[in-house]
Amino acid sequence: MLLRAVVALCIFNDPFAKPAFILPVQVSEAKHHSEYAVMVKGCLKWTVIMRITVWNEYVHERHNPAVAEIYPDGIHGAVAGLLGEGVANAQVQTATLDAPEHGLTADVLDNTDVLFWWAHLAHHKVADEVVERVHQRVMQGMGLVVMHSAHLSKIFCKLMGTTCNLRWREADDRELVWTVNPGHPIAAGVAQPIELATHEMYGEYFDIPAPDELVFISSYSGGEVFRSGCCFFRGKGRVFYFSPGHETYPVFADANIKQVLCNAARWVYQPQTSSIVTDTSPESPTGWFQ
Ligand code: ZN
Repeated sequence: MLLRAVVALCIFNDPFAKPAFILPVQVSEAKHHSEYAVMVKGCLKWTVIMRITVWNEYVHERHNPAVAEIYPDGIHGAVAGLLGEGVANAQVQTATLDAPEHGLTADVLDNTDVLFWWAHLAHHKVADEVVERVHQRVMQGMGLVVMHSAHLSKIFCKLMGTTCNLRWREADDRELVWTVNPGHPIAAGVAQPIELATHEMYGEYFDIPAPDELVFISSYSGGEVFRSGCCFFRGKGRVFYFSPGHETYPVFADANIKQVLCNAARWVYQPQTSSIVTDTSPESPTGWFQ
């Protein structure tokens, strides 16, 4: 109560100012909701924190020195860093394949609002029960951002229901990422086009369902095109697939790519979800809602 009284005396000129720190006090006890006390410009206030978990298989970085040089803290470290800098009120943690339950225990997922996923070599090593757990959280409303070669991850394929195969080439193509939906929040503040001087080519046909919202299409110096930024609604959750992010290029250091990923976190994030029951098919006698 004392803290709330302090908050009442504070006036915030910038509601989007990044907190100086987040107090380890979770105000709300509700599951899948995260209201914390934060300190902004010397004042305490209550706010809802976006709890982000960045998951990475973390294989290339430990076995390929060239990748380790680009991502000394792992791709998960780079992505967590850019999200921590670019997303206000975010609390970012990481998880990797080798941790017990791949770092995605029920408790971790219950306390995750937005999950980022990078993978390439070890899709088959991800336990089906963990995939099922992630899938259930997406159905409940957790946001999911799937990056680059994670197009073949078990979770993405399960959510899509298709093979998710595509055409590819590692030949230092120039990639241009074109915004095709300028009113979309994920395109906000992003250059038209984003130019990646060298990157892996991902081309059509990309075997996914038609995206619910298409934000980006990439073109390559080899002539191919690719639906590189795709939004999907699954259950109560939002899913965004973004193709840039090959491990041998410093893609996650690019300012526009950082902007897209921060925008994506904000778009898939839903602090509150519908109360509509979706995990059962309730028998409903006439007049049940009156
Ligand atoms: Zn790749």
